Amino acid sequence: MSTTNTTPATPQTAPQYPEQVTGMYILAKALKNIGIDTMYGLVGIPVTEFAYLAQMEGIRFVGFRHEQQAGMAAATHGFLTKKPGVLLTVSSLGFMNGLTATANATVNCYPMIQISGSSVREPIDLDQGTYEGLDQLNVAKGLVKAAYRVNKPEDIPTAVTRAYRAAISGRPGGVYLDVTTPCLGAVMDKADADKLFFQPVDPCPAMIPSDESVERAVQLLASAKRPAILLGKGAAYAQVDDKIKQLVESTGIPFYPMSMAKGLLPDNHPLSAISARSTIMEQADVVMLIGARLNWLLSRGHGKWNPDGKFIQLEIDPKEIDCNRPIAAPVVGDIESSLDAILAKLKDVKMSMDPAWVSGIQAESKVKNAKFLERLQPQTVPMTHWSALGSVKKVLEANPDVILINEGANTLDDTRDSVDMFLPRHRIDCATWAIMGMGMGSMIGAAVATGKSVVAVEGDSAFGFSGMDFSTACRFNLPVTVVIFNNGGIYNGIGVNPSDNGDPAPTTLDVKARYDKLGDAFGAQTYYVTTPAELFTALTEAIASKKPCLIDVQLAADSGKESGHIGFLNPATLIPFTV
Ligand code: ADP
Ligand code: MG
Repeated sequence: MSTTNTTPATPQTAPQYPEQVTGMYILAKALKNIGIDTMYGLVGIPVTEFAYLAQMEGIRFVGFRHEQQAGMAAATHGFLTKKPGVLLTVSSLGFMNGLTATANATVNCYPMIQISGSSVREPIDLDQGTYEGLDQLNVAKGLVKAAYRVNKPEDIPTAVTRAYRAAISGRPGGVYLDVTTPCLGAVMDKADADKLFFQPVDPCPAMIPSDESVERAVQLLASAKRPAILLGKGAAYAQVDDKIKQLVESTGIPFYPMSMAKGLLPDNHPLSAISARSTIMEQADVVMLIGARLNWLLSRGHGKWNPDGKFIQLEIDPKEIDCNRPIAAPVVGDIESSLDAILAKLKDVKMSMDPAWVSGIQAESKVKNAKFLERLQPQTVPMTHWSALGSVKKVLEANPDVILINEGANTLDDTRDSVDMFLPRHRIDCATWAIMGMGMGSMIGAAVATGKSVVAVEGDSAFGFSGMDFSTACRFNLPVTVVIFNNGGIYNGIGVNPSDNGDPAPTTLDVKARYDKLGDAFGAQTYYVTTPAELFTALTEAIASKKPCLIDVQLAADSGKESGHIGFLNPATLIPFTV
């Protein structure tokens, strides 16, 4: 006989409380047992009761308007805490909306666990058509670090522990845990259920590099005339800030931070080579990569890079080594263990660095920084990205402990280049995939995970992907401020539709839109600003309020250019603003 699934969350037999419990209770307890204190998600069949049970267990549940944003919050929570962020989704579409964020977390090496309810197996496997029927486990598999399904309540603690270990050990990433509706609703005696929980021993083991690899790396670094240290977000994630500082300052080697490693050492540190990227690429003879991949963000090790330069790479994933360019000295291990070993050996070696290398970078940086600052001086009205950023820079640098979330095209590039960071893990952006649509989720995840104030600087297009979840920040009364740079479009607001049908151009949004009124709808403190002075006052006040705030920053429609230097893909005749 076939089974039907009309009331998916209802167990066959109702549990006799308090002697009996359901799979949902075991799942909530199992999460709490391994130290999960927060869950992000969006409820519905079959996980609603589970979210209530989690709250009963003392797990904070942050309910979103869209699963993708809940997932971005969980991912950011994972990045900032080294504990997996947890995302809860319903079956089918909810699962898929959330999976976007879990895949993004995997690419970015953020630890998170997506827990999704899923429908009854049998009609899915026979493709018979059932409520929200989707073979979720197999959909997820190709996009995540690990994927598991749990079918029996007594297996739930094991499943949760496996997901936890997979998310945080080795290279961190996104894990999918599929919990079927019958499993969520299955009934067990409480006494038997309570015997299932256990504490995993050493869930994120240190990975010690070989002595030989450390020796090789130290010798190569010591032999360099023009060395550089390149810090990636893996270095920020590792939370070994003092050791990185010691490495840089004891050797005197200039460092270059990738965008989310900004602030690991202050951007105005005398050894910061942040303004001398091309010089590092073209002239360094040895570059030590710490938690950074030689991927597209670093021209995959080609392009401007010195063809004779050698690389040392501190990396946890052995598969990463040599992926784009031969690595002369791989140090495979966790960054903390690798740095401990390297720092110990460095005490006994003599460096060969040419002092002119550092003084040259410092002189170049001084000239470039002064020139860059000039860009931010004009009080242009209507505002450009630069005149607006002049004010944003002043306010954020006066509030260094505010976490900055940043996405957009020009808004991303120009904010990253303008706003100096002074503290580790205070800048979170759209990262490795350079995607849009992480803003509100990451902002909320950062505020919830740290309790700190957060400012999200968003392009108007970027904000559109996640804007509705500003309401989540309002419901939870978080100390967050959204700053929307409205130039009325993707790249800018002056695109021209080459046909005569009267539609907007593909890049055109609405330069007259009043995003502040969206904030009003949810009770936020809002501002509409048209001058750099107004922006300065509004942002200062918003941060000080420690309440949800939204600032609509009116830019000129022609501020901003197409980013990414792919103008050759766009015939100039069709898209005049790229010429
Ligand atoms: P960025 O974009 O800032 O350059 P990436 O995300 O490309 O940073 O690179 C981060 C790297 O750091 C990844 O290859 C990841 O495997 C590595 N990583 C993450 N955590 C650790 C750790 N604890 N120890 C060593 N390597 C790590
Ligand atoms: Mg725009």
